[in-house]
Amino acid sequence: MKENERIYCNKCQHETSHTILNTKRFSHSSGQDGYEVDWGENFHTVMCNGCETVSLLEERWCSEDYADEPQRYRYPKEEVLMEPEWLELLNDPHGKTRSVYVMLKEVYPALNNGLFQLASMGIRAALDRMMVEQGASAAVGFGTKLNFALETGLISSRQKDFLLKVLEIGDAAIHRDHEPTQADLVSMLAIIDTIVRIVYIHEEDLKNLSPVPPDPRKQKV
Ligand SMILES: [Zn+2]
Repeated sequence: MKENERIYCNKCQHETSHTILNTKRFSHSSGQDGYEVDWGENFHTVMCNGCETVSLLEERWCSEDYADEPQRYRYPKEEVLMEPEWLELLNDPHGKTRSVYVMLKEVYPALNNGLFQLASMGIRAALDRMMVEQGASAAVGFGTKLNFALETGLISSRQKDFLLKVLEIGDAAIHRDHEPTQADLVSMLAIIDTIVRIVYIHEEDLKNLSPVPPDPRKQKV
């Protein structure tokens, strides 16, 4: 790792130059009769020069490796998807959205650590909780819950079709050993993003709009 080297930043979501804040090096050797193997680890605490996010970069090297450059590992790992900014808005400790928040909060690390089956099950569960939180009966199947959301105007018929797809992948992961791909998960979360915005976020946004002058055509004469 060189000073100001460009490496991936999870927050900026692209490669940025990084400052090395601290470095700790370990080296080891083993062998005898003129044959010795050396290896070691370098740990760098690094900071993105753009957003000032701090992360840890580990380099592993070995005298027996063919490659000149050491192997690199970063912590936290490079993220497939970052948590959306709206997620914390659902974190109302005693509110109705708490259970949806808790489930989605676990979905992102599952996705970013390659746990695609768990992530898809979590998305399905979050959707289920969302429908119940909005008034659907917890005792009925997911299809009935979606019908409730459609009939109450919460979602459109097109969005219902999208959600059925999301449900299908989660169901297949739970019951039929289906292994969803990373791309599946990214698509599922894009659909969830839209629904959460409709159900929770846009309503709050509306409250913050500035008042407009009344339309004279709608005023009584
Ligand atoms: Zn950054």
